[in-house]
Amino acid sequence: MVLDKCRRLAPVLIIAALGCSPVAHPHEASVPSAPPKPIAIATTSTLASLVTTVADGHLQVRSLVPVGASPETYEPSPQDFVALNEAAVVFENGSGLESWLSKLLANAKKAQVVVLSDALPRDVSHPGGEQFTNPHFWLDPHYAALYVDAIENALASVDPAHAAAYRSNAAAEKKKLRALDGWITREIATIPEGQRAMIADHDAWYYFDRRYGIEDVGAIERSPRREPSAADLAALIAQARAHHVRAIFAEPEFSPRLAKQLADSAGIATVTDLYDDSLGTTPELSTYDGMMRHDVNTIVQALR
Ligand SMILES: [Zn+2]
Repeated sequence: MVLDKCRRLAPVLIIAALGCSPVAHPHEASVPSAPPKPIAIATTSTLASLVTTVADGHLQVRSLVPVGASPETYEPSPQDFVALNEAAVVFENGSGLESWLSKLLANAKKAQVVVLSDALPRDVSHPGGEQFTNPHFWLDPHYAALYVDAIENALASVDPAHAAAYRSNAAAEKKKLRALDGWITREIATIPEGQRAMIADHDAWYYFDRRYGIEDVGAIERSPRREPSAADLAALIAQARAHHVRAIFAEPEFSPRLAKQLADSAGIATVTDLYDDSLGTTPELSTYDGMMRHDVNTIVQALR
């Protein structure tokens, strides 16, 4: 009678409540659960997107700086210390982007630390002489491809069992980056030559501008947390006029107040949704490729 009830009522919890123990399969107890996947940490969401593409599910990928926050002014949380202690590999951009990271890395006991900008030829890292290093290399897809090589090598070294997968994922991502580069070149070519000039909130666009023949007229904040003086703004307004800049570009991680003030004074437009250090929150902005295509469409629309 009880047995009949048990057969009719399938869920295990109900069977147990009725006092009949389900028969364990003889091999069940000895089957080991899958080992947890190694953890890869990238400092920013943009870099994490490149790591995710190469890892393709074989590692858990996390980023430290939340989407929408600036890596230049980020203040680490206690959870970041814990996360780094568990990581097998940590990817940082380097070249001065993450000044807060070194004290955290003391906690990353078992992690391999990869400085992605070290993958670049030495002569690109000091565009303005030894005193000035601009860390925003990833906005040039040619440099992003070198980051992908470094990610592939690091993942293959911490997880050799999936090295072949990392190699083929990296090759596919670099093919995508070449397609992106060709598309950007064609899009920028649709902007009349005399109108290819940009001023952004901060100096993220130097390498992108250099690659695609856009004049990098300046940035509102030349260094993190340093608001420009009235004289700096006046000089930038004069530059905007002299170079026929058609829009000031602001990023969501900064207040658009100064960009608006500058654009109003120069009598030009303000664009407030350019993404660079951080991805965005919508699906189309959740990958490096999606972010770059959004940005290029935004730039072309504003300058053309
Ligand atoms: Zn930045």
